[in-house]
Amino acid sequence: MPKILQLTSEQVRILRKEARDKYPVEACALLFGRFAKEKVVVTKIVIAPNTLQSTTRFQIDPQLVFDSFEQAEQEGLRFIGLFHSHPAPHSPSAEDIRYMKLWGDAIWLILSLTDDSIAAFHMVNVKVQRIRIIIE
Ligand SMILES: [Zn+2]
Repeated sequence: MPKILQLTSEQVRILRKEARDKYPVEACALLFGRFAKEKVVVTKIVIAPNTLQSTTRFQIDPQLVFDSFEQAEQEGLRFIGLFHSHPAPHSPSAEDIRYMKLWGDAIWLILSLTDDSIAAFHMVNVKVQRIRIIIE
């Protein structure tokens, strides 16, 4: 199980901009990259439209998910997880937790527009745990 999620400051800037541009609708993206021991390194971000256009929920077009997974596989990258923004604090919503169970090992990166903070979570034994973020 990964313990650290590594992003570049440029990636964080892109995600913050996307979150602000889509506000108050939740912005979302798929994260791909490499696994190195206990660290997961994001090397690719695929910005995705929120098909629900909701301020409390998000959904990504399944075709876009499929295409992005295929493309990443060809590039030798692995799926890391999902990014989305909250107009609210960054703790996962009840709905997020429901989907976290379905997405298995995926890391959930959530940006809160209340204070611009980001936090990463994943599910271990049906419990939500936080993952440390390193920004290089
Ligand atoms: Zn959420």
